[in-house]
Amino acid sequence: MQKNILIIGAGIAGCSLAHFLAISGWDVILLECENKVALGASGNPVAAIYPKFMLNDEAYNDFMLRSFKFTTAWISQLGLDKNDYRFDGAVEILEKTYAQKIESKLSKKIIDKEKFFSLINQSILKEYSIESKTSGILFHQGGWINPIALCNHLINHFNIKVITHQKIMSIEKLNDKWKLKTEDQKTFNSSYVAICNASSVNQFNLTQHLHIDAFRGQINWIGSTPFQMPPVITCDEGYLSPLINDKHVFGATYAMNDFYKDIRLSDTKKNIASIKAIHQKFYNHCEAQESISGRVAFRASTKDRKPYVGSVFDNQLLGKMRIRELARADQLPWLKNLYIASGFGSRGFTFAPYCTSVLANLINGKLSQEDKKTLNYTNPERYRLKKMSLKKVASQIFKV
Ligand SMILES: Cc1cc2nc3c(=O)[nH]c(=O)nc-3n(C[C@H](O)[C@H](O)[C@H](O)COP(=O)(O)OP(=O)(O)OC[C@H]3O[C@@H](n4cnc5c(N)ncnc54)[C@H](O)[C@@H]3O)c2cc1C
Repeated sequence: MQKNILIIGAGIAGCSLAHFLAISGWDVILLECENKVALGASGNPVAAIYPKFMLNDEAYNDFMLRSFKFTTAWISQLGLDKNDYRFDGAVEILEKTYAQKIESKLSKKIIDKEKFFSLINQSILKEYSIESKTSGILFHQGGWINPIALCNHLINHFNIKVITHQKIMSIEKLNDKWKLKTEDQKTFNSSYVAICNASSVNQFNLTQHLHIDAFRGQINWIGSTPFQMPPVITCDEGYLSPLINDKHVFGATYAMNDFYKDIRLSDTKKNIASIKAIHQKFYNHCEAQESISGRVAFRASTKDRKPYVGSVFDNQLLGKMRIRELARADQLPWLKNLYIASGFGSRGFTFAPYCTSVLANLINGKLSQEDKKTLNYTNPERYRLKKMSLKKVASQIFKV
């Protein structure tokens, strides 16, 4: 029998999960509260894709590397219009000693490191029209994507039906099926549901314990300039894009629990200031503009910056179990056939495609060893288990 699934939220998480399930034979209904797909955080004109590494978090670095490698290779073979993505390099500006430390870490992890990245000094940065006085790392396979084009490309499949204007208000289990109710009291039923609605992930009774923060972010853009600009996406405090669909996009600001969508002059000024160190002429050019366009959206971030990808507990069963019983990973009270993919923070276009490919493998019962590692890392119940002093169990849900 044909399997079907309801997915809530049509940003990059919902659209890529829909894609992976549709190509493996599922009938997908993608429910979106807005009137189009990619109107939330996934609706910016450009998203930078490059691997951001940490000095003291190896697990995060491994997850970042897996995500980045998967996502760039996958996007490259999707058949997207060549004007909608480019992986011809991304520069991350870093203080020299920090860049060297990252380099030495990466050198141990990456076999073909010359193909992957190069440490670049001030004079090489200059060749890229980047005026920074420090140094940086050039990620050769980094680049950018047009998020709206990607989301629309992903849902263009005969197994996917997108239904807009459907704000899902509740999820209940009735006779072994999930029943979703909209604001207008319309219902959708299926044995399988995936929640991909970013910072609203905890709006339902079943998921209200998932802590998530919404961060307001504003980006800005201007058109072509009469002077040379960096040909690749350049990331410092903020990022500056090459000319993409007639826009140099730059930003972004970051403000927690600020839910207003107005474009603010104060944020535009912050964004202009953030690119001063990258390109003084561009900075002066922006300062001289009478008005600058922009867009506001909300990032959904978890406390530890790891996304939530996987399943959640059945609260009723959980309440009846003793801590001793919960200490066994194979006895945990998972809700069946309800899945989460949320909390992708400021790296959604690197993390979400990879994570939803893993989630699709979980739903299809085809997990690789690497998938299991990823699901242990992104386990949505990690905080509840930690609170019960079962942190170790949280990282051993799937035996690797
Ligand atoms: C200013 C800014 C700049 C960024 N820059 C980058 C970047 O350069 N590179 C990068 O990788 N990432 C970047 N990000 C982060 C990236 O955009 C996000 O991580 C990613 O878009 C999250 O995708 P998502 O599908 O989880 O969420 P969203 O795209 O927000 O999608 C969630 C969807 O769920 C819908 N929804 C919510 N509740 C309901 C409901 N109850 N019923 C039905 N539908 C519902 C929403 O309408 C929305 O369409 C940036 C974010 C911001 C804000």
